Amino acid sequence: MEQKPTIITSAGAMTAAVNSARTVGKRIALVPTMGALHDGHLRLVGEAARLADTVIVSVFVNPTQFAPGEDYDRYPRAINADRSLLAKEGSAAFLFTPSIEDMYPDGIERQRTWVDTSELDGALCGRFRPRHFRGVATIVAKLFNICLPDYAVFGLKDAQQFVILRRMVADLAFRVTPVGVPTVRDHDGLALSSRNAYLSREERTAALAIPRAIKRAENLIRTGSRQVAEIETEMREILSGEPGVVMQYAEVVTADDLSRVETLEPGQDVLAAIAGHVGKTRLIDSVFLTAPPNRPHSSRRQQ
Ligand code: AMP
Repeated sequence: MEQKPTIITSAGAMTAAVNSARTVGKRIALVPTMGALHDGHLRLVGEAARLADTVIVSVFVNPTQFAPGEDYDRYPRAINADRSLLAKEGSAAFLFTPSIEDMYPDGIERQRTWVDTSELDGALCGRFRPRHFRGVATIVAKLFNICLPDYAVFGLKDAQQFVILRRMVADLAFRVTPVGVPTVRDHDGLALSSRNAYLSREERTAALAIPRAIKRAENLIRTGSRQVAEIETEMREILSGEPGVVMQYAEVVTADDLSRVETLEPGQDVLAAIAGHVGKTRLIDSVFLTAPPNRPHSSRRQQ
């Protein structure tokens, strides 16, 4: 059923709306986004509605998670289209679109307190996007304080972000349950992303090497490959076979703290992740996997 979300543009009004929902016993779920919504975001909204009574979707392009020279200025902004999509999907009660002044009341240059994510920043995207996760964690902490959600729903596509935010919730005792939703892909396998809008047709074709390499890692791990170096070599070969992709990393790391590992243990939870540029567009993709348990060798059985 079509339900147009109520647009709320100030932090004070958002907290007031949440407080009145809470006093009548509603459970709240928050879906933080940067807008330019697509079916991946909508899957998160659907999951939020399954978990809670009142769903808030926030749209805020957060300047402090972009490094100088990144795409902050040209990041797609489409708030009217976002509202229509949410209306069609039907489960968001509120669309929260705070201004920069709302989220940084004294100005960004006067913000003195940041969530320090450096313990998990040394891996994957953190190596290439200095201060990115500090910006993400800080803005999500602010959104938690404004929206007071019982649940916060995130995409596992942004795998490192999810690992960091899950840690933040545990380490800083936020009273919210973080929930991860598997990556939604286009029919050709490319993970949906607001940044896909930047890709030319040729670039989009080249970009498909990224999900191919992720799939390869997934198949290798599922069928019992345990040597991370071998798995990573195969991922990198697929990427280097596509000249349109300039790889930043292609790695298999532990799922809980993103550390390097040489040999996968049976039953170990791992993350296979890739980042690379296609033209000027930086894309990421990943999959969380569990290494299969040890199977008895057929030769052993014969003994
Ligand atoms: P963004 O607007 O790109 O910051 O993303 C907002 C939320 O949507 C994040 O939690 C993302 O991980 C999630 N998201 C983005 N793309 C996808 C996708 N293809 N599948 C599932 N979740 C996604």
